[in-house]
Parts: sequence; C-alpha cells; structure tokens
Amino acid sequence: MQVALARETDWDGWRHATRALVLAGVAPETIDWQVGGTQGDLPDAQGTFNVPRTLVAIAALAVQARAPERFDLLYRLVWRAHHGALPAAPADDPALADAQALAFAVRAEAHRMRTQLRFMPVEDADGSRFLGWFAPRHHVLEANAQLLARRFADRRWSIVTPDGSAHWDGAARGAPKPAEASGLRFGAGARGITDDATLAAWWEAHHPAVLAESVPDSSVPEAEALDEAPRPLDRPPIGPVVLEATADADVQRAREEARHCRRCDLWAPASQTVFGEGPAGAPVMFIGEQPGDQEDVIGRPFVGPAGQLLDRAMEEAGIDRRTVYVTNAVKHFKFTPRGKRRIHQSPDAAEIQVCRFWLDVERVQLAPRLLVLMGGSGARAVLGRAVGVTRERGRPFALEDGQTAFITVHPSYLLRIPDEAGKAREYAAFVEDLRRVRALMEAA
Ligand code: SF4
Repeated sequence: MQVALARETDWDGWRHATRALVLAGVAPETIDWQVGGTQGDLPDAQGTFNVPRTLVAIAALAVQARAPERFDLLYRLVWRAHHGALPAAPADDPALADAQALAFAVRAEAHRMRTQLRFMPVEDADGSRFLGWFAPRHHVLEANAQLLARRFADRRWSIVTPDGSAHWDGAARGAPKPAEASGLRFGAGARGITDDATLAAWWEAHHPAVLAESVPDSSVPEAEALDEAPRPLDRPPIGPVVLEATADADVQRAREEARHCRRCDLWAPASQTVFGEGPAGAPVMFIGEQPGDQEDVIGRPFVGPAGQLLDRAMEEAGIDRRTVYVTNAVKHFKFTPRGKRRIHQSPDAAEIQVCRFWLDVERVQLAPRLLVLMGGSGARAVLGRAVGVTRERGRPFALEDGQTAFITVHPSYLLRIPDEAGKAREYAAFVEDLRRVRALMEAA
C-alpha cells in the first residue's frame, strides 16, 4: 500500500491516511509512506478509535522532524496503541522513545530558530518588509511562522529557508485565525544563502515570483506546543546562520558572548538577548530601557511600536537612524505573562546595574561622543542614580569619561499618554529634544 503525502509536514494527510488504514486493519509493514507522488484510493474508513493524548502530542511534533522514517514510526505506534500493545512510558518502549526524541528535537529546533533568526529591512513594491533567513534542522518553518504571525502581526515580513519560505503581509492587531484565513503564505525556498548580501541579492531577483506563487498550504498542528522551552538534548546544535547588523568585530564578539549571559535571571523567560546595533564609528548612542515583546521575538532593538515612533521622530528631527547606534540598558525582555500576552515590566535598579556590564562594553568599544539617555532606566544605567527625566531633560552635560550625555523621554512614554492633545504636545517636545541632539552631533 503506497501512501503519498502532499509535503514533508502534511499532518492532515498523515492523520487521514492513518485513521483509514488502522480501521481497515492494514499492517504497518505493508505500507510505503512517501512525500509527493500520486495517492491511490485509501480504504473506506468506518468507525473511530482512540489513541493516548500523549501519543498525539508526540506525533504532532515528530511529524515535523527531518527523518524519513517518522511517518512509518508514528503509524506503528498508533497501530500498536489501537491494539492495546503500547506501554505508557517511553522508557519502556524503544519505538516510543525514538518518537519522543524526534518530538524533543523538533521543539528544540523551533526554539533555536526563534532565538537565532535575524531580520533585515528590505523594500518591495508595497513598502518595507523584514526579511529573515534560517536553515532549520527540522521542518519547523510553518509552526514558527504561525507564532511569529501572532506576535508580530502588524508588520510585513518574510522568512526564507532552504526548503521553503513564509510570508506575512501584516494584519490588524490581535491573534490571527488559522493560517489559511490569516494571510500567512508559504512558497519556494533558497539555497546558497551565506550572509546578508547573498540573501538580499536572492530576494531582489526572486521576490516578485516567490510572493506571487506563495500559497496558504500549512497544516502543521499545535503551534502552541512549540512555545515551551525545549528540554535539553544530547546532540549538539548545528552552527546557525546569523544575520544581523554589526558595528565592528569587538562589538560583534561581545554580542555573541551576551547571547549566553546569565548574570541575572531575566534571560530565562525571554526568547533571546537583544544587543544594540548600529554602524562602527557612530557618533551617537541612543540608550533605552529594555527590549519589548517584538524586539524579544525579532532580536533587534527598537523595532516595535516605540521603535517606530522613535524612527518617525528622528526623521522629523533630521537624524538618520542608520548613522546612530541604538541599544538598551537591559538586554533581556522583562515581562509578566498574562494569558497569551506578555506584559512589560520595568527592570529594577539591581538588574540595570548588573546589565550595565554590557552597556559599558558597548560604550568602550564604540566610543560614541554623545549618549542620548531615553527615560529613567536608560539614564540610571549611565549615571548610576535615579533621574527625574522631566526635570533634567533637554540639556547636554559632560560625563567623567569625556562623553556628553543628553536626557530625554523614552518613546514608549509617548505611547502611554491617553489623551491625543497631550500626546501631540509631548511628541513635539520629544522631536525638539532630538533636534538639539542633531545640533550636538553636527557641532561635535
Ligand atoms: S538582562 Fe543583561 S545581565 Fe541579565 S541575563 Fe540578560 S544580558 Fe545578562
């Protein structure tokens, strides 16, 4: 009996065939599972049967493993469960333990992809888009794309892998419906990508066709299951392809080291370290508080709503963001989970003090002449004391090491102002502060 699945992650196809074949009494050793090809008639399935919930959870993940034997392995387990021949604990059964190992490997790879995926901005006919590249060890693109679509719903992005690509064109805020209704689409992948330049060249040459041909064809289940932190695996991870803006070699080294920082507890619930970014030799360093929800997912500072507002204000003030370095006092996202949402929590003085280690590295390595301290946490990180931002904002002053500091509000403060008139007034004051910063940049 040959079973042809539509693609490597054809969960619906595998489930449908498994149900029909088990009910028809088709023994595992007579089935040839294939991806692609033409599917013959499956037996007419009559009746129902149950399998343990744990096995379904394992299968939902293991089906995404890059292991050709997985469809057969999972079918054999379902077959045995149906015939009452499956022990409860994986430790008692080598086949069940194999399936569980595949499931863990998939979950670990999904986590690795979410924490190491980097995006760069590109332009296409419809405007700006974030473009990311990753070479996953397992077929985790679709499930990760679902998560990203929920967390990063209001931006346009594409993720390219060797096997396929995922595309999201932005949506109203809030959780999207299942993939087909949400606008999440999947298309061709790319091989031979080694860095930002080859990715950008590939995108430039292929993106109209890839976007035009991509379709909503995912049936990967249980994206939420991937949201858990992975359990440790014995196998070492493969080397990632990391795409990110770099300042210079020393900062890049510090950035790599900071990925594994455990100096305080904030690393544990966060997705990844979000280091600063900007060009080597940037004359100005903008220092905020900490990464937010979107920064935590994407791995870059100031790309969420506050970052977009900062971009707009910089533009109005005549500052090109590409010429400055932006970073945060604390490099991990501190939050309180509330349902599926993650509510921002300000870092406390101790956390700012501990994470100052990395800020000092950035300051020493990049040696900017001017530091723009945005908000109380950014100011505390540099000055080592509580700062009254409203009282002290808007005028430059010298630091002991010869750098100049300038205090202003954090852009997220502007987002929290409830009335429109107050918001407009404070925004104008913020832009005015940035104009002073520009003047200081020009005078330096
Ligand atoms: S918040 Fe800073 S000090 Fe704490 S773990 Fe993260 S990088 Fe390290």
